[in-house]
Amino acid sequence: MDLDLPGETRALQLAARDFARHELLPAERELDAVTDPGSAYTSDTYRRVMALAHELGLHKMAISEPAGGLGRDTLCVVVVLEELAAAGAGLASRLLVAPVPALAIDRFGLAERHPTYKEYLEEFTADTTGTRGGAWAITEPDVGSDIFTFHDPSIHFATGAVRAERGAGGYRISGAKSAFVSNGYLADCFLLMAAVDSTVGMEGTGIFLVPADTPTITRGKPLDKIGLRALNQAEVFFDGTEVPEEFLVFQPGPGYEAVLDWIVTQGNTHVAALALGVARAAYEHAFAYAHERVQGGRAIAEHQLVAMKLFQAYRSIEAARGLVWRSAWLIDQGRPDRQVTFAARTLACQACLQVTNHAMEILGGYGISRENPVEKLTRDARPLQVMDGTIDRVSLLAAAHLAV
Ligand SMILES: Cc1cc2nc3c(=O)[nH]c(=O)nc-3n(C[C@H](O)[C@H](O)[C@H](O)COP(=O)(O)OP(=O)(O)OC[C@H]3O[C@@H](n4cnc5c(N)ncnc54)[C@H](O)[C@@H]3O)c2cc1C
Repeated sequence: MDLDLPGETRALQLAARDFARHELLPAERELDAVTDPGSAYTSDTYRRVMALAHELGLHKMAISEPAGGLGRDTLCVVVVLEELAAAGAGLASRLLVAPVPALAIDRFGLAERHPTYKEYLEEFTADTTGTRGGAWAITEPDVGSDIFTFHDPSIHFATGAVRAERGAGGYRISGAKSAFVSNGYLADCFLLMAAVDSTVGMEGTGIFLVPADTPTITRGKPLDKIGLRALNQAEVFFDGTEVPEEFLVFQPGPGYEAVLDWIVTQGNTHVAALALGVARAAYEHAFAYAHERVQGGRAIAEHQLVAMKLFQAYRSIEAARGLVWRSAWLIDQGRPDRQVTFAARTLACQACLQVTNHAMEILGGYGISRENPVEKLTRDARPLQVMDGTIDRVSLLAAAHLAV
């Protein structure tokens, strides 16, 4: 078993590290400090850094080469995401989410289904302006963790949820998606889950792919949040949005479960990689500081309790990385495994919380200063506990599966 990264992956990892340190880090810190998130996402800094990321192809890593992407495997994507997140987890999250509609078109051969999709995929992969990118919208104001309960017919989309009613030649979509939709404020296309047949509960969900410039689609104001502030998130409203029949790309039923599984497994593996990056950055800052700061006549790294916290951080990061890579590797082998993925996600996110907390403690009073990068990392660790399913919900799902 060869645990060395393949040469191509290593090369992209180093390119991403260089970009992350020199471009992403200063941009992320600047955007994080902007009080009004709306102005951050329309700023020159945001536009410039996204354009640079797209020029490097970081928005299309997993899209196949024939479709204009880099054709990288999931292992490569998680390795790169860790590098990006170590410098700027908010912008890394945007790069992770924005390709979802294009990936779905590529992976499920949807370009054949409608000219709009073929055009979208071509334009997305060719984009070097950093302005193209979509979102996936499943959660709703009253439907959060319940997205996972699609086998339970008693769990329905709540009143006011996004519904798709069949009419002559198409569907009419109405309702609101939650303020958490990542890239929802700027997305140009939505992979949208909507109730087509709510009498059978969540299993009656169909998946639509809808260009965001379709009339009657509007957005809320961007979410103002504790961490990942450089990631734009916003509510999305559908007010009788008319779409052709072909825009329902996955019918309700067994196909829905398979696609949701694909998204959840990929998504949780990717979120785990973001958490790894944040944890690693906190560890590196704490390690450097602990060797510089002298108290009691010696570097604080030589005090046993500080040394122990550093070792625990190192150990948790290494252990989580091992699981994240395994989860990615299984996906690449065509054997995605939700148990492994959920173990990776929860371990990486728990490590992220603990390592950022310990790093803050090691930095003493300096740790709480906004001048210090560790303060931001502790804030970024929080939303990662919820993104793509709360840690508790995901752990419970995994535990229930173990008992079968
Ligand atoms: C950074 C970030 C990015 C996101 N990106 C997207 C996105 O791109 N698209 C999208 O559609 N959504 C997105 N989300 C939404 C995310 O998937 C939901 O926030 C998440 O699934 C939890 O739903 P909720 O916030 O409604 O919490 P709730 O489901 O209301 O949970 C509240 C609390 O109850 C607990 N709980 C709920 N159900 C159970 C249960 N059965 N057993 C035990 N405990 C339970 C939870 O663990 C939690 O502690 C994002 C969220 C964040 C924070």
